[in-house]
Amino acid sequence: MARPPLAPLLKVDDGFRGPKLDPYVYSDHVISSTTTLSPDHVLLTIPLSAASRESFSPNAPLPLGSTTSHTPQNPERDPAEITVQHVMIKQPDLQIERPYTPVNDPGLDGEMRLVVKRVRGGEVGRMLHSRHANELVGLRGPLTTFSIIPEAYDRIVMISSGTGVAPFLQLLASLPPQSSDPTRKAGRYHLVHLKPDSEQVDWAATSGLLPRLQEKLSYDLSTYRPEKIQKSSIQKALGSSDRSHILVLVCLPPHLMRPLCGLLGPNLEQGPITGILGELGLDNRHVWKLE
Ligand SMILES: Cc1cc2nc3c(=O)[nH]c(=O)nc-3n(C[C@H](O)[C@H](O)[C@H](O)COP(=O)(O)OP(=O)(O)OC[C@H]3O[C@@H](n4cnc5c(N)ncnc54)[C@H](O)[C@@H]3O)c2cc1C
Repeated sequence: MARPPLAPLLKVDDGFRGPKLDPYVYSDHVISSTTTLSPDHVLLTIPLSAASRESFSPNAPLPLGSTTSHTPQNPERDPAEITVQHVMIKQPDLQIERPYTPVNDPGLDGEMRLVVKRVRGGEVGRMLHSRHANELVGLRGPLTTFSIIPEAYDRIVMISSGTGVAPFLQLLASLPPQSSDPTRKAGRYHLVHLKPDSEQVDWAATSGLLPRLQEKLSYDLSTYRPEKIQKSSIQKALGSSDRSHILVLVCLPPHLMRPLCGLLGPNLEQGPITGILGELGLDNRHVWKLE
């Protein structure tokens, strides 16, 4: 395999002048740092130029054809709407691309932080794990993962395992700190994130990503760390209140998603809500399955 290209001098006196991200066209972006979070997880930091940063801002127009979960695409976006976004990364040798979700708010931070898992036989993961600081990576984006108006819900329950927590970390990172918004309903956010097996690193905790969000959001965020997805822990996160203003976002691999709520359809359609969430009386009005 050819050696990855090195970044040209990208830091200039008046700020960072990298290429502009485009949802449809690839451009090369420098990796400013890589941090090993576990033998299988690396954190890549990719600085954004001012123009790229703008494309993550709440006012940026959504890419053409973007679908949102519970709100139709709207060129005049509701200021209360939060859009979680991902980028596509390509493996230039094989001409394949895979989506990755920043675990931070790139518009706020001026950089993307991506946690990449290396899976057996996985090409893009392997390529990204071999990258070093100051090397380039081909990116396009951002693209909408989902979009919500949190104020429309009394309770937002997020259920994930592994890197499936990334869209929820981004959502939580984009919320203002607990104390700064007096109108925000306390206790709205509930994250059920499976604890990895004892021999695996709980990188969401050890990296400080989750503890920092917990500290920022205080009692606005309740975090549950069960070892298995069980009805009891889901029930606890759902609470006992009225279900009419509840949203459950699920980002799990198929073997965990199936018993919880049923799989996405072959064309990524939502499909009926079955399993534990179906038994608890939830349906497609309440549940949104993420790929
Ligand atoms: C919207 C979206 C956002 C995503 N965000 C992230 C992210 O932030 N971080 C991240 O690491 N991944 C993320 N993924 C998954 C990522 O896009 C790739 O699928 C994953 O990195 C594997 O790609 P690969 O080319 O390395 O392996 P592939 O060549 O695609 O797969 C190799 C083998 O590994 C299996 N495999 C794929 N993923 C996993 C897994 N998670 N665990 C175990 N086996 C697996 C495949 O079924 C296949 O058999 C996201 C996926 C989507 C749809």
